[in-house]
Order: sequence, then structure tokens, then C-alpha cells
Amino acid sequence: MMDLAIADKVHDESRQGEALVLETKKAKNNGRKLYIESYGCAMNFSDSEIVASILLDQGYETTSDFNVADVIFINTCSIRENAEQRVRNRLREFTIAKVKNPGLVVGVLGCMAERLKSKFLEEEKLVDVVVGPDAYRDLPNLIDQVDDGQKAVNVLLSREETYADISPVRLNSNGINAFVSIMRGCDNMCSFCVVPFTRGRERSRDPQSIIKECTDLFNRGYREVTLLGQNVDSYKWGAPARPHPALSKGEGSEDGILAETNQKVLSFGEDEGGLRRLGEASNASVNFANLLEMVALINPDLRVRFSTSHPKDITDEVLYTIKKHDNICNYIHLPVQSGNSRVLEMMNRTYDRDWYINRIDAIRRIIPECAISTDVITGFCSETDEGHQDTLSMMDYVQYDFAYMFMYSERPGTLAAKRYADDIPDAVKRQRLKEVVAKQQQYSFSRLQAQVGTVQKVLIEGFSKKSDNDYCGRSDNNAMVVFPVGENYKPGQYVNVLVDRSTTATLIGKVV
Ligand code: SAM
Ligand code: SF4
Repeated sequence: MMDLAIADKVHDESRQGEALVLETKKAKNNGRKLYIESYGCAMNFSDSEIVASILLDQGYETTSDFNVADVIFINTCSIRENAEQRVRNRLREFTIAKVKNPGLVVGVLGCMAERLKSKFLEEEKLVDVVVGPDAYRDLPNLIDQVDDGQKAVNVLLSREETYADISPVRLNSNGINAFVSIMRGCDNMCSFCVVPFTRGRERSRDPQSIIKECTDLFNRGYREVTLLGQNVDSYKWGAPARPHPALSKGEGSEDGILAETNQKVLSFGEDEGGLRRLGEASNASVNFANLLEMVALINPDLRVRFSTSHPKDITDEVLYTIKKHDNICNYIHLPVQSGNSRVLEMMNRTYDRDWYINRIDAIRRIIPECAISTDVITGFCSETDEGHQDTLSMMDYVQYDFAYMFMYSERPGTLAAKRYADDIPDAVKRQRLKEVVAKQQQYSFSRLQAQVGTVQKVLIEGFSKKSDNDYCGRSDNNAMVVFPVGENYKPGQYVNVLVDRSTTATLIGKVV
């Protein structure tokens, strides 16, 4: 993967392989140490917190050193072949720990576990437990089975599991930003993607538990939540929604891609206290725009972000909700994948180039100051030079602030693997990727340059990576901003920063 400019937190390269370390529940200590590291997207990092929470309840303590662990878990990603290879290489490094401590339990969690199932046990002799993303509640039993001398597998996918009642522990976070999963799985079946097979059917988490978790986070000092799902805009809870009269007749309906919403829920949004509103609205349905509004209303000092939006689902209602609330950040991740309609159809993305442009135009019209980022795949099956040029011209049209860019990697079992030949030579995929990356570099830089001389509201996250004399934090648009440390402000607070220059990835300025 190549990523540029603003280091996005949803797939944060610098966190790959990070170990989670938490406080032990002293009363329950069972004397065993858990080492857990995570790969892939933010959903996996969020899941590792759920896993740790389940095992902490069993009396485990966490360690950042796998050499002293009694249980090693590796939470895996299957999205591209190289993500899987990385996990296999990492497993080799655990071999010595197992030789030293034969009682050590090694478990593989997440997407790769789900994809390979018990085959994993045959391929990697070191592994004792294989657990899919919907089976984490079963972990204590599975570890017991291994303690009894067996290997253990649970890769059952669920239509209901959202772990809504498990509050994830986040003690090694910065105490300011948190990810909150609002849904699991994906029903979209993009032909290149393994996620529907590894994470199962799409299901939304109940809004009360989401509001409660976000409120608790705010009360504990967190100031930013990112609502997470593979496809957040298709979030839906409860009864089918009715069209919202104000929007269906008003400005939001201009292009007919309108939002289902529920007036009852929106009118509750006028009150204070998300939980009480939800209690009253228990029979009403909640769509993504409603949920976004409920979270925004928890407190104006709580910033709200979300990821990922699918172009087929992002409605004007969501855009108007972002516009209405200052604390919903003006930043949308809207993966395009390709700018060519024929390729998009083969990818089963269910939108074409014109539809995508229509959504971009709607964002620019409704929230002109909004930053937009994307995902691009180069060299998908049968992509022609002309198709590739369409992707480049889409990048010129949108001028993305940031992009994740990938070469197509065929994944076993996906629709594309079954239907289409992976017929673009690696050298061509790579060359196209280079061109896409070069173009994005240009736009990432020019988008940052355009902010020189502006004042940005920044939530301070901590010291900058390079110097303890500087703080860093993100602007509303999700740009990283660096500025000198001062006595009057500290991490967790908002400051206004006058930007006086930019690098290719960062805005630099001073507090005004
Ligand atoms: N649900 C999100 C969406 O639809 O936009 C993205 C989920 S996926 C975890 C993140 C990105 O990985 C995708 O947007 C796509 O660009 C990339 N990706 C997925 N499968 C891929 C494959 N087989 N080869 C290359 N890139 C892939
Ligand atoms: Fe994969 Fe498509 Fe679902 Fe995203 S929307 S997770 S790319 S199937």
C-alpha cells in the first residue's frame, strides 16, 4: 500500500503490529499474560480492544513483550496478499517463544482466521487457536480446550453479534480520540473484496449502546470519536424509516438521491441528552444521519468523524447533517476504486462514474469546505489504458486531499477470482500505481498549500513525532497540524492555529 499526505487513522500504517497493553483487574488476576497485536483496518484494532476486554474479565493481564506471554494473539487482515504474508512472517518470530515455553497458546484472530479456518492449523503448526471475528466471546472456552491439549477453532459468523454490551478498554490510547464500531460485516459483495466472506453479513449495533459508549468516552475526557463500519452510511436500526418531509420537499432533494430519515428521531434531536431521546424513540428507526446527529448532540466539544462511506449510500441527508453540526468534521472518505464505469461494473460497486461525480458535486455544493479522501485500485481485471486514464481524470476532477492507493491483488474465493482473469501484468499495475501516486502527491500538497494563511481549529493530540517542543493535532478537515507547545493549552483542548506553511503531509503554524 502507498499512502500519502495526511496520515489517516482508519488504516494507520504506523500502528500495524501494535501491541495492546492494559491495566489488570487486580481482583481477578489469574496469573496469565496476554500479548495481542493487530494488523489491517481500524475495525481490527477496535476488535482487539474487545478481545482484551473479554480476557481481562477472565483475570488476564496484558504485556507488550511476547517473550513473557502465556497467550499470544495476532489479529489479522486478509485484504491483500501482502497483508497475509506479513502475518505469516510474524508467526515465524513467535516460534522461539513457543520452544522456550511449550505451554504458550498462539491464536490467530480476525479475517485471515475466518478465510483459512482449520486449514490454518495444518499450514502453520505453531498455531493452537483459530477464531473468526464473530466468535470472540468463545475465547475463554477455546483457550481451555488448548490447555486440555487440543487445537481449537471457532469461525462461526453471526447475523446478530455486535459486541454491543462489551465496553472496549482503551488504556493505551492517547485518551483523546477513540474508534467506536457502529456496525459489522458487509453485504456489498464488491467483486475484488474478501470482507463479505471474512466478516459476514452486515448488521448495525443498537444506537443506545453507541450513544452510551460515546457519552462515557466524553465524560472520561475523550474529545473525538470516529464511528466505524465497512459501510457506515447503510447503518440502520429499527423499523423502516419514512421519508422526512422537510428534506424530501426541501433543498436536500434536488438531485433525487434522498435520504430516508425519521422525523420523530430528528425532532428528538432538539433536546439535550442522547440517551433520553433514544429511550423515547425506541420504536423509531435510526439511520446513519440520525445516528450522526445523536452523537453530535452529546456535546459540542465532542468531535465526530466516520468511516467508510460507500458512494452508493451517502445521501444528501447525511451531508446536511454534517453541515448542520459544527462538531461533525468536514471530512469524507469516499472510495472511488476506479474512474471507469465498465471497471466499476465489473467491480460490482453498483455506481458508475456519473453517479460518483454527482455525489462529489453534492458534497462540494452542500459542504464546500469539506475534505475528501479516497481509495484507488490499479490494474483490476481487464483494465485498459483508457480505463486507467479515467481514474486519473477522476482524480483531477475531485482533487482529493488524501488517498490510499493499491495494486489489485486477487483474493481467493472472491467474485472477481471466480469470474475474471487477473490479466494485467504486475509491471503494468505497478506503473499505473506510480502514476496515480504521483498525481495524488501533487493534489495532497496543493490542498495543504491552499490552507496556508488560514486559521484552523485543531484538537491537540500530543507532542509531535519530531519534537517535544511542538504539539500536533488534526484540523476539522483531518489535516495534521504542528505548532509550538504553549503554557495555556494542552492535549485534549482545542486551539486556533494560523497556518504559515506546509510540507507535503503537514500544516505548520502558531496558535492565535
Ligand atoms: N468498505 C470500504 C469501501 O468499500 O470503501 C473499504 C474496505 S477495504 C478494507 C479498504 C480498501 O482496500 C478498499 O477500498 C479497496 O481499495 C482496497 N482493497 C480491497 N480489496 C482489494 C484487493 N483485492 N486488491 C487491492 N485492493 C483491495
Ligand atoms: Fe469490501 Fe466493498 Fe464491502 Fe468495502 S463495500 S468492505 S470494498 S465488499
